[in-house]
Amino acid sequence: MPSYENPREAGKEAAWIDKKNQLAHTIRKLEQCVTKMRRRPFVIRVKNDAPEGMTRVDFNGKWNYADIFLDTATEHLENVKFRLTLAHEIGHIYFNYDALRGAEFTFSSFDATIGEEVYAWAFAFWLVFEKGEMFRERGGDPTCIYAKDDLKTALKYLILDSRKPNKEDLWGKLDGKLRELDCQ
Ligand SMILES: [Zn+2]
Repeated sequence: MPSYENPREAGKEAAWIDKKNQLAHTIRKLEQCVTKMRRRPFVIRVKNDAPEGMTRVDFNGKWNYADIFLDTATEHLENVKFRLTLAHEIGHIYFNYDALRGAEFTFSSFDATIGEEVYAWAFAFWLVFEKGEMFRERGGDPTCIYAKDDLKTALKYLILDSRKPNKEDLWGKLDGKLRELDCQ
């Protein structure tokens, strides 16, 4: 157990952002929106120790939490792909947003249709892009600022290099969606 007797050491430790805690502002904002909508405290947790291929989000309305599971391979992804992967799981929560009102509503992104997958990836693209633009304006982390083309290429290979059986079909549909949403 680390000792936090020294405030300087404690401050340094507190300032460090673990990889799995990226997009924490986005997650906290979503937690607050869901809490307000459901009128009961809601928690979103991110875990990074799921077995390979088990990256997903499980939403449990009955117990008032959602768990985003990132598999152990995710940790080794380059930063842009890591952010897209985490953002994708957040996208599933946005896709199901209206249904979250249901007190006992549950879902797992494992059961998502291809339409939901396309939505969640398109959401991930725009979330990661817009966070970068915000950093550009406000002077945030320069390693998290991406040109649309570079971001789209990272997203393309994140999907095409995966083991998903329908990856070509998914990328084709997502590419069409991104063009429709003004990303050439
Ligand atoms: Zn998904």
